[in-house]
Amino acid sequence: MKYDHILIRYGELALKGKNQKFFINTLRSNVQRALKDYPDLSIKGKRDHMYILLDGRDPDPIVDKCKDIFGIQSFSLAMKVVNDEEKIKEAALEALRLENGQTFKITCKRSNKDFPVRSQEMNQILGGHLLRNSEEWTVNVREPDVEIRVEIRHDATYITARNIPGKGGLPVGSTGKSLLLMSGGIDSPVAGYLTMKRGVKIEAIHFHSPPFTSERAKQKVEDLAQTLTKFGGEVKLHLVPFTEVQQKIFKEAPENYGMTIMRRLMLRISEQIAQKEEILSLTTGESLGQVASQTMESMHTINEVTNYPIIRPLVAMDKSDIIDISKEIETYEISIRPYEDCCTIFVPKQPKTRPKREKVNQFEAPIDFTDDIAKAVEGTETVMFSPSNPSQESEFDELL
Ligand code: ATP
Ligand code: MG
Repeated sequence: MKYDHILIRYGELALKGKNQKFFINTLRSNVQRALKDYPDLSIKGKRDHMYILLDGRDPDPIVDKCKDIFGIQSFSLAMKVVNDEEKIKEAALEALRLENGQTFKITCKRSNKDFPVRSQEMNQILGGHLLRNSEEWTVNVREPDVEIRVEIRHDATYITARNIPGKGGLPVGSTGKSLLLMSGGIDSPVAGYLTMKRGVKIEAIHFHSPPFTSERAKQKVEDLAQTLTKFGGEVKLHLVPFTEVQQKIFKEAPENYGMTIMRRLMLRISEQIAQKEEILSLTTGESLGQVASQTMESMHTINEVTNYPIIRPLVAMDKSDIIDISKEIETYEISIRPYEDCCTIFVPKQPKTRPKREKVNQFEAPIDFTDDIAKAVEGTETVMFSPSNPSQESEFDELL
């Protein structure tokens, strides 16, 4: 007997009442998508757990994929047997034999109350059986080298020896969609990742100003979008031509308010794209007090132009924590490539750090941006990234 299943535990997902079925189906299709290289794999979603039938396949690459899927609390390689005491004994012994160590513990969990033996009693029965049949092992309930978990569920019993932590969160696509304002910086991809973790499907929007921003700067954002597909499946990226808007701001607005007005226009354009895509919120990588433009006053003044909810997962995070996450999700190396961003090109020498709503409205009043906004929306290019699309992967090396 050997490990023939991967048992997936949901955690928080299991608490979602009547939506539970929808959450489980979403997770199931996300698992299926992540494992698209194995089209024949059988993946079954039950009320309180999911399992993948390995059918003789090497579990390691499948285990690796499962580590990146939101909505999985933990998972384990498992032996699945019918709810029969003798079969369970046999599998538990086999699981122990596959491990290295000297001490073990049995943890039995009986969610199927129709099974006639209680958990505590099963622990003793199984412990005794394992001790009798394996000379080198002893029991240690406090700090065992190996914990054999026996989960007696309705459909079957699963025997596992290792618990692999999952990413937690909720399955992507189960809580709606958000439009992520993505620069080429460190913060916004992390903000996208954290929003996805709460089950949100992400589309990204990027403002670029050719010829002042280069193809390489655009490539950087495309590579970031590609990297995010690892966690959320397909990512649609909207590339907005922003040159004319920026030039107009630069020409017609007071310099120190240029940054604030530019951000307001980004939000107005983003809102229109969101509307077109039937998306109900925006997400940004803003973090309070991190840079001069991210003051409370600035947020208050910039936010005035939209009543869409703005998700700011990083608002209370320290930069060092944000960097840690960006390294973990492998966006850091892309984000630190030294290419210009549209914001840094027209950046005023002394941007207003405490912009006021009245002032900015006064400055914007004589400038009519309606046509410019419409033109930017119309000229927006949309690119789709999917985990299965290696042609979209970085051409950065060749460009060097
Ligand atoms: P990031 O690391 O995400 O660039 P930042 O610390 O540099 O963030 P800002 O430049 O003040 O912060 O930008 C704040 C937020 O505005 C970004 O996190 C991003 O969500 C959005 N943003 C900035 N520039 C762009 C852009 N060119 N296209 C789309 N969104 C942008
Ligand atoms: Mg930035």
